[in-house]
Amino acid sequence: MENNNKPVVNLISKPENMLKTIYTACRTCYSALSPYEIYNSTDDEAKMLNLIEKVISSGHYSTIEHIQVTFAISNVSRACTHQLVRHRHMSFSQKSQRYVKEKGQFDFIIPPTIAKNEELRSKFINFMGEISKLYCEFTEAGIPAEDARAVLPNAAASSIVASLNLREMIHLANLRLCTRAQYEIRTMIKMMCEELIKEEPWLKSYLVPKCERLGYCDEDKSCGRMPKLTK
Ligand SMILES: Cc1cc2nc3c(=O)[nH]c(=O)nc-3n(C[C@H](O)[C@H](O)[C@H](O)COP(=O)(O)OP(=O)(O)OC[C@H]3O[C@@H](n4cnc5c(N)ncnc54)[C@H](O)[C@@H]3O)c2cc1C
Repeated sequence: MENNNKPVVNLISKPENMLKTIYTACRTCYSALSPYEIYNSTDDEAKMLNLIEKVISSGHYSTIEHIQVTFAISNVSRACTHQLVRHRHMSFSQKSQRYVKEKGQFDFIIPPTIAKNEELRSKFINFMGEISKLYCEFTEAGIPAEDARAVLPNAAASSIVASLNLREMIHLANLRLCTRAQYEIRTMIKMMCEELIKEEPWLKSYLVPKCERLGYCDEDKSCGRMPKLTK
């Protein structure tokens, strides 16, 4: 069935004491106190943020690897999840096209550039119907789902649980919020960032396209949001 094309993204797990954990990791490197003494030494958010910003800006990224977050994601295309799983420091559990057999019309995502043109949208939907018929013909003939899925398109909807640490989250945001990233993964990553920022507002300045952290654009084809780095 045609979807409303909007990813569904929920943050389902994160540490309660994110800021204090990172602060403890940062200060342990420079303090005579034990990590647990540091952990119990302050609740002053501004003080913690001040140190964390300095440590991250100087590239001491291991301190933010202690933080793990998990997202439940659905209503995205296989084209989108295929791009997501290229990120090698993430962990994934994805709905299997081997174990979950499609019954009737499979769910699919229509790219907005196609959806906004009524004639092309209609052709797209009809074609998904044709694929579905062939898929069902195969499975009804006894072809296992793992082989019948060979005819399913990039547009087929999927769901995935994705976990990653904060270092990778920032890297992911920096790359995939860039306007050079494809619209669907950009939309999904933006929603992941928004979910996390709702819980941890201090992360807002980190979960941005890379040009905002760099102060310039390092892409070959620039969107013009930031100046290109020149001599
Ligand atoms: C706009 C855009 C267009 C893209 N187009 C294409 C394309 O046309 N074709 C294509 O195949 N892919 C494409 N990609 C995917 C891209 O090449 C990367 O595979 C993907 O973005 C993951 O990025 P990464 O390797 O930096 O990150 P991750 O895999 O998340 O790794 C994070 C960081 O860890 C380090 N790291 C991880 N693994 C290693 C390793 N084995 N050795 C050394 N360091 C490592 C690197 O510093 C890396 O940046 C595109 C990505 C973007 C954002």
